[in-house]
Amino acid sequence: MIKPIVAANWKMNIVPSSSKVFISDLMNFVGEINNLDIIICPPFTNLYNINLKTPFYLGAQNFHYENDGAYTGEVSINMLKDCNVNYVIIGHSERRNMFLEIDKNIRKKIIVALNNKIKPILCVGENLKDRNNGVSFEVIKNQLLKGLEDIRSLNNICIAYEPIWAIGTGETAKPDQINDMHKFIRDIISEEYSKNESENISILYGGSVNSDNASELISINGVNGFLIGGASLDVAIFSDIVRIVSNNYMR
Ligand code: PEP
Repeated sequence: MIKPIVAANWKMNIVPSSSKVFISDLMNFVGEINNLDIIICPPFTNLYNINLKTPFYLGAQNFHYENDGAYTGEVSINMLKDCNVNYVIIGHSERRNMFLEIDKNIRKKIIVALNNKIKPILCVGENLKDRNNGVSFEVIKNQLLKGLEDIRSLNNICIAYEPIWAIGTGETAKPDQINDMHKFIRDIISEEYSKNESENISILYGGSVNSDNASELISINGVNGFLIGGASLDVAIFSDIVRIVSNNYMR
């Protein structure tokens, strides 16, 4: 069985002092749950000096693939390691679209993260135009193959399918759209890697997940958890989603 994951992507929200309060509240609300992993991905400034124990893990939202040097404004993997970061989101659509991050560099980041024993959460997702033009599957395949090119094992990688048109819009993808895309991703992995890896890789869904739709979404075949933006900013709502996943994930 793949252990489910509920990951919070705080984006550019929550100041460091509030994040400590959030995490302590979250531990109080859901601390007894142990059948899933909970990953908190705060902004860089909030990563230092956070001590988390299972089932809680620390994630970053990005980093630069170079180890050090003259890269004003950037943060390296060594810095994430020094903060005991366990996971890193790579290739989020906001980074691809607003910060012009390309597949070639996404791939470099995945390699650097793996070499440093930080687990990448590779985000893939099509935009509305792609969906309306019927090219969603092609887009996702391209992002996967380019991002994972020559990466030999997917053992420590997690994938998040995040249709861009569902992110922050309040509109989730329909269950059959999610089911089809997660199956498609597994089929690609099976072809490019192995059946075993396709069956064991964790594929999260992201896009307007909240406490009202979490139960339906976590029941979709092939969904191993969520990457959550907006609804992860409220500790009570996020805790509800964690509970829903804990109670409804049956695979
Ligand atoms: C995200 O940006 O990763 C995301 C899923 O956001 P939201 O939950 O707000 O749609």
